[in-house]
Amino acid sequence: MLRVLSLGAGVQSSTVLLMSCKGILPKLDSAIFSDTQWEPKAVYAHLEWLTDEAARHGIPVHRVTEGNLRQDAIDFQKFSKSADGKRYASMPLFVLNPDGTGGIVRRQCTSEYKIKPIERFIRRNLLGLKHGEHAPRDVVLEHWFGISADEPQRMRMSRHLWQRHVYPLCNVPDDYLPKPMTRRGCLAWLAEHYPDREVPRSSCIGCPFHSDDEWRRIKADPESWADAVDFDRQIRSMEAMKGQVFLHAKRIPLDQVDLRTDTEKGQLELWRHECQGMCGV
Ligand code: SF4
Repeated sequence: MLRVLSLGAGVQSSTVLLMSCKGILPKLDSAIFSDTQWEPKAVYAHLEWLTDEAARHGIPVHRVTEGNLRQDAIDFQKFSKSADGKRYASMPLFVLNPDGTGGIVRRQCTSEYKIKPIERFIRRNLLGLKHGEHAPRDVVLEHWFGISADEPQRMRMSRHLWQRHVYPLCNVPDDYLPKPMTRRGCLAWLAEHYPDREVPRSSCIGCPFHSDDEWRRIKADPESWADAVDFDRQIRSMEAMKGQVFLHAKRIPLDQVDLRTDTEKGQLELWRHECQGMCGV
């Protein structure tokens, strides 16, 4: 039975890989990172370190890619297909229709740029299947995911007979850990075992799902911020739509979004100003 991790190189999947390196979790046969070619530099630097660390413990980290999501998304916005006409990089972008109503573009990027390249690599390179060849009908592979116990809604059953999905941090389906781990638990474990390492958040620089916290982090890196603002400008008008398209949920240009925290806006910090539970309300 092969054990393979989908590696996002963020907090949770890094924890799973490093726990496997340390023997806290069963030994993985390999980990696979699917590269959208649009992650922050900190993620690529962390991935380099992870690759070396895993190699020291006999776990190869493979990189696969479907192409450059940023460029493909721009081409898709303009021409409804990527430059080579093969990929459909639709991101969950926010749309402002001419009548003032809002919409959102259907998300295909996760499937096309994250899930399919990894499944293809597993079938061709790990199972040795040729194009169109039938996969085994028995389970021959555990496919691990770094999903933590605070996000169980992201767990999925495998669609294929030849693999079963395993969520080690949720203890699904096996009790690999004494108890499930949340993202906060992963951060605490990483801080204890790798105190000198800061594990970045992993996602595309211009992911429309960023919270304002995440946008503030992106803005703190001038290069990434300039990249996201430029992308936001380039996708404004979409071939297939009458409305305007935006990266931020407010449906205004990214560099015009007020990303200040409530404190920076001078609003009350309710928790700091609470009455310490004395009056019972
Ligand atoms: S991080 Fe966001 S933009 Fe990138 S593949 Fe995932 S959903 Fe799409």
